[in-house]
Amino acid sequence: MAELTTTLIHHPYQPPSGFAAPQPGVFKASTVFFPNVAAMRQFDWKDKSAYTYGLHGTPTTYTLEERLCTLEGGAQCLLVPSGLAAIATVCLALLKIGDEVLIPDNAYGPSKALVEGELRHWGITHRYFDPMNPADLAAKLSPQTRLVWLEAAGSVTLEFPDLCEQVRLCRAAGVLCALDNTWGAGLAFKPFDLKPGHLPALAVDISIHALTKYPSGGGDVLMGSVITTSERLHMQLKLCHMRLGLGVGANDAEAVLRALPSLPLRYRQHDETTRTVAQWCLQRAEFAQVLHPALPLSPGHAHWQALCGDVLGTAAGLFSVIFQPDVNQVRVDAFCDALQLFKIGYSWGGPMSLVVPYQLETMRSSWPVYLQQGILVRFSMGLESAADLQADLQQALQQCA
Ligand SMILES: *Cc1c(COP(=O)(O)O)cnc(C)c1O
Repeated sequence: MAELTTTLIHHPYQPPSGFAAPQPGVFKASTVFFPNVAAMRQFDWKDKSAYTYGLHGTPTTYTLEERLCTLEGGAQCLLVPSGLAAIATVCLALLKIGDEVLIPDNAYGPSKALVEGELRHWGITHRYFDPMNPADLAAKLSPQTRLVWLEAAGSVTLEFPDLCEQVRLCRAAGVLCALDNTWGAGLAFKPFDLKPGHLPALAVDISIHALTKYPSGGGDVLMGSVITTSERLHMQLKLCHMRLGLGVGANDAEAVLRALPSLPLRYRQHDETTRTVAQWCLQRAEFAQVLHPALPLSPGHAHWQALCGDVLGTAAGLFSVIFQPDVNQVRVDAFCDALQLFKIGYSWGGPMSLVVPYQLETMRSSWPVYLQQGILVRFSMGLESAADLQADLQQALQQCA
């Protein structure tokens, strides 16, 4: 009779087979057993028909990958520990010394830090292009360009580019384009079918998604995905992903799996609340500009309408305001501090509304012509009632008047 130490591990209990429930199980593993040595030699870690090691996939992560492909209309997915790790994985897999990467000037800030830091040190150059001027992108595409990043809408300034034209330019130049699709979340538009019905399909090559935001929906998980439709491209990314040792925890994967079914519902509610409150802000004299792609005067409104609009269109839960030029930083900070429901914090996509004041002059190559001068504050709308959020903005504006 084996000792307890052993019997606790080699336990005779077998759960009944055929257990079926709404949620997939949380499978945790580093080690995965092979039935015999021949199977160990034969199983290929790149092939999802068998399991080889926890880092290469479990039933939980395979299930999440499949559902994310469904969400974004892709064929293959890699999971990484954060949205930024997804951006980094794409850059590291596709760029080498002497290559150039093009980034929109309104890109997610840490992407710029990556190209200005590690990539520059490794001999990979970068150039920033004007997201609202396709001619600028066209002019910056060169024989050295290997990758173009795209983002719609800009995550702080919310201008909406002519994404289809940007993709066409990359196609014409034979350069890969990767979209940071966190804002669209697979719901506002389809990254691999930008013009439904259009043949051949107008598509980005890679869509990355900060699952940290809407797919998680709780403000409690950090994760990212890298989705493609090309098997060849996916394999290039997957080999790099393996060599970097990137993976995600099973509990986190399950948390995202649990949140995914309510994603469309939550996104729609964030959208509705955001538009209501952004509309109200348009009436306030304190603001020189309200930035939200569904507002007719917001930069790129027509591009948003063309890509995301049927009748009302779809948009995420972000909007920004630019205060009148005479409202100084002290008053803007006092406004943010006076907010009660809006918490001061980064990220978005969770149930609580958030606010962040930004110093745009430190983030852009130059002040965009389509933005008024003044201090910018971005709001991420949670799932609270629009009336309550509006009342909160009103009381905070009074306090800093
Ligand atoms: C948050 C965010 C990221 C990064 O996601 P993390 O999981 O926080 O690393 C990337 N792109 C955009 C547009 C984001 O909003």
